[in-house]
Amino acid sequence: MNNILDLNRKELAEALTGLGEKPFRGTQVFEWLGRGVSSFAEMTNIPASLITKLKEDYYIGLPEVVKKQESKDGTVKCLFRFKDGTEVESVFMKYSYGNSICISSQSGCRMGCTFCASTMDGLERNLTGGEMLGEVLAMRNLTEEEIGHVVIMGMGEPFDNYEELSRFINLIHDEKGYNLGLRNITVSTCGIIPGIKEFGDAFPQVNLAVSLHAPNQEIRQRTMPVAKKYEYEELMAACREYTEKTRRRITFEYAVIDGVNDSESCAKELADHLKGMLAHVNLIPLNEVKGRDYKQAAGESVRRFKDTLERRGVAVTIRRTLGADIDAACGQLRRNN
Ligand code: SAH
Repeated sequence: MNNILDLNRKELAEALTGLGEKPFRGTQVFEWLGRGVSSFAEMTNIPASLITKLKEDYYIGLPEVVKKQESKDGTVKCLFRFKDGTEVESVFMKYSYGNSICISSQSGCRMGCTFCASTMDGLERNLTGGEMLGEVLAMRNLTEEEIGHVVIMGMGEPFDNYEELSRFINLIHDEKGYNLGLRNITVSTCGIIPGIKEFGDAFPQVNLAVSLHAPNQEIRQRTMPVAKKYEYEELMAACREYTEKTRRRITFEYAVIDGVNDSESCAKELADHLKGMLAHVNLIPLNEVKGRDYKQAAGESVRRFKDTLERRGVAVTIRRTLGADIDAACGQLRRNN
């Protein structure tokens, strides 16, 4: 049995012609899937004979809700479970510009960032493009809210699963399906350089965020093992090249950690690296994770950090923390379950 959500419109049409159907049936089924139906029986314009055939070969891989937490601010965090028992987290958030979902691209992660909960048990497996789409559809069904922005910033490293990430983007962007604009999608990477290059060529309209979390190689490699393979200067050069090629701004994520990367000199050094680049820094108050020693930097030092960057001409915001009352961060729900 295969997850039918993994098929793009063309593949679906081919699969259905293989079953002796007309290609337009593929589009009809694809349209239903984009609306988030959970059974073939709901596809009211599809003949019963075809529904029987579909059920023999496919299932609709919407994940099941294992746990749901709702915050006072409207944030909904879900632990989803796929058919084989694999669990991932997704978070629904309300912003002034509309509703957004943060989805996972892998269950677990093998990048090993020392402040992150998702990586503590390593990588369980990659998600498929259809499973990522399933997170969005299941969340929309659950909240009964339109979701106009998708960030791939949940569990996992999207560029460690590039092919399926790319399948997901093409699936959700299809005008006959969910029809999400490419500019409404953001992919966040820990800094896998070949991924940044390939992504800039393939999806120049999709937003890119890079988790930087340090002003130099020395500090970065202490918290992010990926920096040993893809070094700071090289990463910066790849980012610069990306912005020049795409004319799109990169968001650099920077979790401010007490005593690690929050000093004035860190801010100055970071500003020097970003000077003149189409860049924006998003300062994230660290979410303290059980079993990790790191402490959130004081609000005062975060503000000082921000001021220093601003004075040096770097665009910077402090991330509004949504769902703090429900542990809505970074692999904590799956572990606490
Ligand atoms: N692997 C991708 C996307 C998933 S992580 C990446 O690294 O970008 C999403 C973001 O949350 C990253 O910026 C990550 O560094 C950050 N993050 C992880 N653990 C965190 C924590 N405990 N507090 C704050 N941010 C954290």
